[in-house]
Amino acid sequence: MKKKKIVIFVGYDCNNNCRFCINSEKRKIKSKTTDQIIKEIYLATKKEKIDIIEFIGGEITIRDDFFKIISTAKKLNIPDIVIATNGRMFSDINFAKKALEKGLSTIIFSIHGPDSKTHDLLTRSKGSFIELMRGIENFKKIGFNNINANTTIVKQNFKKLPQIAKLHVKLQIKNVEYIFVDPQYGGANKDFSNMVPKISIASKYMRKALDIGREAGYYQWKVRYVPLCYFTDYLDQISEINEAKLFLSKHWAPDFVNEDVVKSRKKYAREKTKRCKGCKLFKLCEGIWKEYIKNYGDKELNPIKDK
Ligand code: SF4
Repeated sequence: MKKKKIVIFVGYDCNNNCRFCINSEKRKIKSKTTDQIIKEIYLATKKEKIDIIEFIGGEITIRDDFFKIISTAKKLNIPDIVIATNGRMFSDINFAKKALEKGLSTIIFSIHGPDSKTHDLLTRSKGSFIELMRGIENFKKIGFNNINANTTIVKQNFKKLPQIAKLHVKLQIKNVEYIFVDPQYGGANKDFSNMVPKISIASKYMRKALDIGREAGYYQWKVRYVPLCYFTDYLDQISEINEAKLFLSKHWAPDFVNEDVVKSRKKYAREKTKRCKGCKLFKLCEGIWKEYIKNYGDKELNPIKDK
């Protein structure tokens, strides 16, 4: 049976300012109040009977009610309490310890470069890489290992994916997602030509990153938001396929509710074109972002024909 997962967007405030952020235009939207979030946690537990709750932002760790939110989810016995974070607040080991005491069970760290130069250029926040690395080290010191990572792939970092993958190996991160940037909204939409790489080029580096993971024994590393024609030898490492098979995901944000994330992404955000006709991966594949086709066309899509 599929696991039920609700992602609660707590608000769009953040202590980073990532160039590609999908929420860059939403900073002025009022964040949810503590009461609103607590009500949603109850609703998710009692009515929806979820298996996984994930809190994202913006950045949840900068909220005064962060620990209260986590401890409420814990009190209600939600099996997996997850956050996606830029990791900076955890550079204080006591903050990290307290989050675990309150019940945090899984962490997804966003690592956008192999070094300060690349990561801080993208986050537009000096010192963000050092704080992030310190945060991860702190959890390791405490003995907490349920650490995941994601990397958003843009023009500024795609050539560095092999180095980023080596960093993930060094940090012994078993679950990593390499996410092809979403240009439907936000920073990458506004600055498309400077941010969005060509999939035919970036995919070589993405495959290399997956190979580095495989060599280290991490076969569960994944790529997200990609046309499958560039990943035919990696079909068990595609996030969307995995997600559709294993999870029923909902998004509850301050400005929208999405009750079926996979379905609406296929319908409104991704596109397969005439070129895809006859492709043997057609059913499995979500195509590529509509904005990508609008800007770069569909010439790179490469239908897979039966031999
Ligand atoms: S040709 Fe189209 S359907 Fe086939 S894998 Fe590529 S994007 Fe997907």
